[in-house]
Amino acid sequence: MHLCHHALCCFVPPYMAETLQDSDDPAVRQIALASLGNEYRTARRLLSAQPLSASLLGQVAGKERYVFDMRGASDPLPGNLLRREGDRPVDDEAANEAYDYSGDVYDFYKDVFDRDSLDDAGLPLRSSIHVGDTFGSSMSNAFFNGKQMAYGDGDGTLFTRFTRSLDVVGHELTHGVVSFTSDLDYFGESGALNESFADVMGSLISQWKYNQTAAQADWYIGKDILGPGASIRGVRTLTGQKAYANDPNFGTDPQPKHYRDRYTGTRDRGGVHINSGIPNHAFYLAAIAIGGYAWEKAGKIWYITLKSALSRSATFEEAATATIAIAAQLYGNESEEQTAVRSAWEQVGVV
Ligand SMILES: [Zn+2]
Repeated sequence: MHLCHHALCCFVPPYMAETLQDSDDPAVRQIALASLGNEYRTARRLLSAQPLSASLLGQVAGKERYVFDMRGASDPLPGNLLRREGDRPVDDEAANEAYDYSGDVYDFYKDVFDRDSLDDAGLPLRSSIHVGDTFGSSMSNAFFNGKQMAYGDGDGTLFTRFTRSLDVVGHELTHGVVSFTSDLDYFGESGALNESFADVMGSLISQWKYNQTAAQADWYIGKDILGPGASIRGVRTLTGQKAYANDPNFGTDPQPKHYRDRYTGTRDRGGVHINSGIPNHAFYLAAIAIGGYAWEKAGKIWYITLKSALSRSATFEEAATATIAIAAQLYGNESEEQTAVRSAWEQVGVV
């Protein structure tokens, strides 16, 4: 079964929804539908989406956020405008989270990498909240459709509202940054790199916001979207551990941490959400070895690689070679930083 055969970047990966779909519990199967069903419709909407033109939008430099309310509907995005840049908080937690966290993502890219929004030209950040699915339930997912963010409220048991998690917001908006930079094809190894950059930057945004060093960070993704009925620690982890194992609802985290264990089948667009575990872990190993704040050196090496050193069809090996070269440019050949990056890729079996 192919559940993700389009360019839409959903946070909850198809393998997780598939596991839920196989549950004996009808309520859990319904959550899977709420997470999966939306992907198909949104993909159709995407196909008809027109490219945005900065001049048509009256786009200006700087931070510009809009939050829209879908009131449980799935269509058409974006919904009713609830809060715009400079407005005071509104009486809706999800709206204020979407506003605040997209602002944190903007500030991270601006302060750390001197990047002005996703396109480096002040693209407004649009978020729709309370997005429903076609069955009339809350969507148990979040996605970036190339133009805007969309967040469901979850089922309330396994997943809570998707605006709650800064790393989820950072992950999804980073797909936007990827699309305006190396534009990695969302299939196979380049697709897994696309997913990995989204996880790496999502994790870094959270570490930056909460002022954590690489050693202090927990390196888990998607903790804050888990509901009271979920007993797993996160959706993914960049550490060498499994994010979860033998869970009655979610099963076992399928992400490999070494190239020899990579998934080679055709599901999940050739394993984009599965094999991202390999470059994710390489980043983690490099960041831990370098020490300090991960966004300052390892993050910078990865960002410059994403921005200027990868082809659209980049393989893991191409990414490894590029990060090693960028580390040398920034910190010197055979520097501690370059050695850490090379060693990280060696440890995950890519070079
Ligand atoms: Zn993603």
